Amino acid sequence: MKENFIKNEQLNFIKKQIALIKESAKSNVPQNVLAAVIDLANAKILDLFPNATKEQQEMLDLSKPKTENEYEQYIQRLSEYMLPFPKITEQQLKKMFPKQKKLKLPDLTQIDHSQLTYLSWNDLRSNKKFIVFELDGNMVGIECEFTSNSKKNVCSICHGMGEVVYFSTVTKAKKARNPDYYKAIGNLICADSSECNKKITNVEYLTTFLKESLGS
Ligand SMILES: [Zn+2]
Repeated sequence: MKENFIKNEQLNFIKKQIALIKESAKSNVPQNVLAAVIDLANAKILDLFPNATKEQQEMLDLSKPKTENEYEQYIQRLSEYMLPFPKITEQQLKKMFPKQKKLKLPDLTQIDHSQLTYLSWNDLRSNKKFIVFELDGNMVGIECEFTSNSKKNVCSICHGMGEVVYFSTVTKAKKARNPDYYKAIGNLICADSSECNKKITNVEYLTTFLKESLGS
């Protein structure tokens, strides 16, 4: 049976490694250097899948493709094994944000779930940004404020350069002795979350940010 095992950010990571290999090949580095670049890329990719079966490891092996066409086929093959973003309904989203009586919802039919690490949409009327992500097996959502004017900078979530906005959220963490205590955390995020989802190669920052804002 075909088992899907690759997440969106992992495929992005693999594509990034291929870009690095191609770059080295283009700059005419000696063969042994190129071989080392490929070895390193291979090792990093296998690290992402510690439980991969023999068959999956073979599929991931980056030492085989050499030509542009073969790289394309390699990616094409892996794309067939994508773990899509969990199916989520409008009802579930409403439950996630109970305080928002008139919650603006994203058009779920327009979103490509196979190319999604996190779901995010904006409510321009209230300058709110919503982020939904699967954290330790549970779907969680946070509500953020964001600045409407974007600028070119590095996104904290995908680490890519692009048009970003500043977003911030109030953490749910409370200090026992001071019930009025609240802390806002924030950072730069791609203005267009579908672009961010194409670039994100790991979920470290996203996980940390969500955990901190949820106070868990
Ligand atoms: Zn981004």
